Amino acid sequence: MKKVIIFSAPSGSGKTTLVKHSLEAIPELEFSISCTTRQPRGSEIHAVDYHFISPEEFRQKISEDAFVEFEEVYTDKYYGTLKSEVEKIWNLGKVVIFDVDVKGGISLKKYFGDKALSIFIQPPSIEELERRLISRNTDDAETIKTRVEKAGEELSYAKEFDKIVINSDLNEAKKEMEILIKSFIEN
Ligand code: 5GP
Repeated sequence: MKKVIIFSAPSGSGKTTLVKHSLEAIPELEFSISCTTRQPRGSEIHAVDYHFISPEEFRQKISEDAFVEFEEVYTDKYYGTLKSEVEKIWNLGKVVIFDVDVKGGISLKKYFGDKALSIFIQPPSIEELERRLISRNTDDAETIKTRVEKAGEELSYAKEFDKIVINSDLNEAKKEMEILIKSFIEN
């Protein structure tokens, strides 16, 4: 059966680490590469982490109805899930894994229904989230401020997800996620 796993969380909650871990631990999973208009960060690679495209290309894809969902996650920074990515992964006989913002996660769950398991990764607290963003050292102070403010709002949507994993201990969270995903895939 065609299935998808949706991961959403405020930025800095350890979501990317958990997504990467799940991809390594569970070979049936394949990551859906989103499109974004933001610039690559650190060691990110085009067509691996994201399809980094221009605002014009992004608008073109909207007009072609190429996205399952898209959001302006930050001012002037667009992110979107391609229908073609999902089809490509299903054609490989694999389960799609999405790393999207909270609104995108809710849209994807509505779209895929019972085919989807939606998981919300919750940081232990807003203060801890801020500490993590600062120590990650990839964003300037202004960006961190915006992300922390947004996180407060995003936490209120946790209840809309099928499952919540609280990431206070990374190893515990990894184990919990593996169990959730495996049981969803197998049943
Ligand atoms: P970042 O800039 O840190 O890579 O991502 C910022 C936020 O955008 C993260 O919460 C990430 O999960 C989310 N995001 C990435 N791709 C998509 C997408 O295709 N759709 C939506 N709605 N959000 C996305």
